[in-house]
Amino acid sequence: MAKARKYVYFFSAGRADGRADMKELLGGKGANLAEMVHLKIPVPAGFTITTEVCTYYYQNGRKYPKELKVAVAKALAGVEKVMGKRFGDAADPLLVSCRSGARASMPGMMETVLNIGLTTATIPGVIRLTGNPRFVWDAYRRLMMMYGDVVMEKAAGIESAEGKGIRTQLEHLMDEMKRRRGAKSDTDLSAEDLEALCGQFRAKVREVIGKPFPDDAQEQLWGAIGAVFQSWNGRRAISYRRIEGIPDEWGTATSVQAMVFGNMGSDSATGVAFTRNPATGENKFFGEWLANAQGEDVVAGIRTPNPLNIATKGEQTQHLASLEETMPPVYKQLVAIRNKLERHYRDMQDIEFTIERGKLWMLQTRTGKRTGTAAIRMAVEMLRERFITKEAAVARVTPAQLDELLHRILDPKAEQKAAPLAKGLPAGPGGATGRVVFTAADAVAWTERGEKVVLCRKETNPEDVEGMRAAAGILTALGGMTSHAALVARGWGKCCIVGAGTLAIDAHAKTITAGSKTLREGDWISLNGSRGIVYGGQLPTVDPDPENPLLVEFLGACDKVRRLGVRANADTPKDAATARQFGAEGIGLVRTEHMFYGEGADQPLFLLRKMILSKTPEERRAACDELYPFVKSDIRGTLEAMDGLPVTIRLLDPPLHEFVPQGEAKQRELAESLGITLEDVRRRAEALHESNPMMGHRGVRLGITYPEVSEMQIRAVLEAMAELRAAGKRAIPEIMIPVTCSVNELKDQQVLIEKVKKEVLAKFNRKKLDFLVGTMIEIPRAALTAGRMAEAAEFFSFGTNDLTQMGFGFSRDDIGAFMPDYLNKKILAADPFQTLDQEGVGELIRMGIERGRATRPDLKVGICGEHGGDPASIAFCHKAGMNYVSCSPFRVPIARLAAAQAAAKDAAGAQKSAKKGKR
Ligand code: PEP
Ligand code: MG
Repeated sequence: MAKARKYVYFFSAGRADGRADMKELLGGKGANLAEMVHLKIPVPAGFTITTEVCTYYYQNGRKYPKELKVAVAKALAGVEKVMGKRFGDAADPLLVSCRSGARASMPGMMETVLNIGLTTATIPGVIRLTGNPRFVWDAYRRLMMMYGDVVMEKAAGIESAEGKGIRTQLEHLMDEMKRRRGAKSDTDLSAEDLEALCGQFRAKVREVIGKPFPDDAQEQLWGAIGAVFQSWNGRRAISYRRIEGIPDEWGTATSVQAMVFGNMGSDSATGVAFTRNPATGENKFFGEWLANAQGEDVVAGIRTPNPLNIATKGEQTQHLASLEETMPPVYKQLVAIRNKLERHYRDMQDIEFTIERGKLWMLQTRTGKRTGTAAIRMAVEMLRERFITKEAAVARVTPAQLDELLHRILDPKAEQKAAPLAKGLPAGPGGATGRVVFTAADAVAWTERGEKVVLCRKETNPEDVEGMRAAAGILTALGGMTSHAALVARGWGKCCIVGAGTLAIDAHAKTITAGSKTLREGDWISLNGSRGIVYGGQLPTVDPDPENPLLVEFLGACDKVRRLGVRANADTPKDAATARQFGAEGIGLVRTEHMFYGEGADQPLFLLRKMILSKTPEERRAACDELYPFVKSDIRGTLEAMDGLPVTIRLLDPPLHEFVPQGEAKQRELAESLGITLEDVRRRAEALHESNPMMGHRGVRLGITYPEVSEMQIRAVLEAMAELRAAGKRAIPEIMIPVTCSVNELKDQQVLIEKVKKEVLAKFNRKKLDFLVGTMIEIPRAALTAGRMAEAAEFFSFGTNDLTQMGFGFSRDDIGAFMPDYLNKKILAADPFQTLDQEGVGELIRMGIERGRATRPDLKVGICGEHGGDPASIAFCHKAGMNYVSCSPFRVPIARLAAAQAAAKDAAGAQKSAKKGKR
């Protein structure tokens, strides 16, 4: 017979069923309480009901497994034995707390009930035993407040109007009592006051909820257990899980534990502390405590808590007594526990403690949440102290935390208090705040007169770039992670949110509507581009420090651990310089067409348009000749900025119609220059129209039909290289041919490359010019025929934007219309343009690499789609055996970290299996 499932894990001094590595089953809280027992740290006895019970509860119409009742009764009897008290006993009653605890910490998102077991039958007993009626009535009024709110109201699904919830109504009664007694603080109320208040509370509960407050200990206990499980699906918890990406299936555990009291008088206290400062990372024991209080008082901010020690007193807290000064022996004991916990967990811990009549009890330890700054500082300092390994240090900092240090961000404190207006995709990092404008022209004009603006559009197109450049941030209602706005913003490291689908952005009416809220032109709006959250109003921002030595040291550690190279996608010499500053080891993609947008692009764009609208090869060649110096100088600038590092230059890629001018003035100018009529220009432009441009005349296809266009670009690359080499520079270009589907396309272009190479060698009187020629793999057929492609290509760069588009058959620019439904209905787990679809598109990549390397073992392989900056996709690239990833310059540090984390994981895995092997 299969062994019955164990649903309840017991713990008390000297014995615990669980361990720290059982978080999946016991939640963080339950697992760590058990671990503290093993560490001989004083923990009140209790037991943890597993997350499996939570899952069962939701899968079975909110019922518990039938074995649970007996298991809980048995564990409770164990607690009673240890504590020498009985739950519900009138003479000497045990009181317990009931707390939630999921696998990942979700601070404050779920529920807790304290003081369970206080009833009319048990209260006199507790009063007799403690000789402290004030304390008992205070505990009872707390139980009613918490239980009324958490169990009787929230868990019962009662939605009360703002300010009408039971908790608020009870708080009013208490305020009223304080006012009548002239009491400043809760502690000024007498035992009689509190007893009277409890009577009022009881009546109020019955009046508001329509039911009496339960007066039976068992009923209270099971009500609390149910409410904790219910709180897993409370509104707060659900939205927290969405933001943090915590799966709904995990469930929460519930820990029931004997109560210890911090509110038993002036020799009692309660506190919350961090083993290091969670905001700065400073290695100082940091925390807050309150004398004669229960834990909730510290967190709820009812009274201003005191600083834990002298060293961490701040300006505002100078005058307050620290625990170090007030109870020196207990503080000393707490410091010893702090040191023990840090040594054991090798990470900063967030702890809760209670002092009951001078005796210290630990109620919780967990790895503490921290800011990006603190995460880096702790990782670096613990590494310096050899407290942790390089691999552990790089695993400590999340990409989002690193991101915090690289961009100006919204002040996290202000953000915590602000209510989001909408959520979209985190397309460009950092935070921005500015006034709402609706057109690119306004963005430029307002910025010129000194205003800070956020450009808000349904979607953007290449004609908006000036405005996008000028704006502090960009917000669109449509589009995905590879939409125009996202690509451009990311390239600049500019804060941007796309696809905020719940916003109605009306450029004509100049309004943004989100539910009942409307913003108008000139109103303030704030964006958190790293998380995709939009706020109304002007939130303060904080600046990063680019020279931060800790950051430099941390990224240095990442570089030692990682095996994957990191390059940048950079289109201009300026971007190249930025990429280098951020530690790029080369450029993985120069989208040459970008020189025709933005600053200084007027003249080359005009010439490009001329080339596009040319009718004959002669006309086109003439236009190419005119364009040539611009292209060469641009490429030369980039090669020079990356001196000594490889630069992958891609031949012209986009469908040409994108460049055709729409306005009459520009069309007229072109007509004049080409010596044709305006009508002719329009006709030629129309002829370029395609029904399906993304699959039309683009990429290598342009070079096949217009070899002179390829030739011009190849010449620009090779002459720039020859000139730089002649000047003693180490230019290392790689020519990349885009949108290929057959080796024959490559062979066709190689003929041109060979021809131009000969001419350049002759012109510069050189014997050789070494450079690589490769291709993008962005069409499924190219991946499938990679063995053939590698006959001609010396490197592959996976263009996963197009490979995803063509692999799924999802248009990159039109997914906004259906992707939200795909995600909501869980048809897809994630937007495949944001994070690589490892199962499908990933299979094409794995196959492409394998087949390519079968033909050419030293084939160099990289990725240059947007996924090259996404940590999960980078981990995939590492596993797939790529040589490098390439991403926008501002993502380079993130990629260095993600690549290191992938390698560190390998190392950890290898260690584990070596250990297993030995066993
Ligand atoms: C790609 O398709 O992944 C790519 C890098 O090219 P682009 O985004 O310019 O089409
Ligand atoms: Mg592409």
